[in-house]
Amino acid sequence: MVELSEEFYSFNQYLRKQFGERVQRISLDAGFNCPNLDGSLSEDGCSYCNNKGFSHYAGSLKSLEDQIRESIEFYSKSAKANKFIAYFQAFSNTNADIEVLKERYEVIRKFPQIVGLFISTRCDCIDENKLKLISEYKKDYLVWLEYGLQTTHDKILAAINRNHTCKDFLKTLEQTRKFDINVGVHMILGLPDTTTDDILLDARRLSSLDIQGIKLHSFHILKDTPFHKLYESNKIKLLSRQEYVDILFQFLQLIPKDMVVFRLSSSANPDYLVAPEWINQKGKVIGELRIKFKEKGICQGFLHENSSFKN
Ligand code: SF4
Repeated sequence: MVELSEEFYSFNQYLRKQFGERVQRISLDAGFNCPNLDGSLSEDGCSYCNNKGFSHYAGSLKSLEDQIRESIEFYSKSAKANKFIAYFQAFSNTNADIEVLKERYEVIRKFPQIVGLFISTRCDCIDENKLKLISEYKKDYLVWLEYGLQTTHDKILAAINRNHTCKDFLKTLEQTRKFDINVGVHMILGLPDTTTDDILLDARRLSSLDIQGIKLHSFHILKDTPFHKLYESNKIKLLSRQEYVDILFQFLQLIPKDMVVFRLSSSANPDYLVAPEWINQKGKVIGELRIKFKEKGICQGFLHENSSFKN
């Protein structure tokens, strides 16, 4: 059982436990597309998605090798980091033939400072052969697969044009865990037409699954997305910072103590962020959340109990 030295099991705490020092994650665009954008499933993408809004190198013409080299140089100086995790973040990073995947993942071997391989993708964009390939990196690296899910409610998944169901995710989760690969799940809190009860039901459902990590952020509007148009016509309500902190406080009490929290707040490129502006005040969100936990004298997992997930 994890002993929490903080109010929640932060990614930093987890990495220090694994490596005994600070490890910097570097976000990369390995040149993949996404089936929800390339026409395989849809050309519209998820209604909130603009990769340029959240991924530094998205759409960059720089080679993967140059992105890694540049990031290592930058964080070695600015954050005094010696160890790094290659985070294949932009678009869907298993969306290619196995030979292409191998060629791109292998680039990390040129950098001895890299100790981890994190791959972000969709649950319908992976199969046994790809999982086998990814699991081979466990010999030399800390390996995680991060699946975008955003909500466990099929009605909302359809409304945001995810083009997969929660059942699809559950099937992939089971397959992935057979290879003993760590699974992180990306969730968006406050999507249109969701209530606080819906969000807390997400937390209860996820807490009953074989998931090792979670990445949370509040719903926000990025330029050039379908939700941008709706927002401009006043059809979308966004959470205030206070509302988001209150929901986070309840959400984290419901998930297990040993579920790693990769992120509690996103930051968006100001050139692409429409609203709300507070999302880029990450320190305030985390600070207010910590105060709430301290005042109550509790931490992540306080209300956690296992329940079986039926969708
Ligand atoms: S959020 Fe992910 S799955 Fe959805 S369109 Fe964007 S890259 Fe594709």
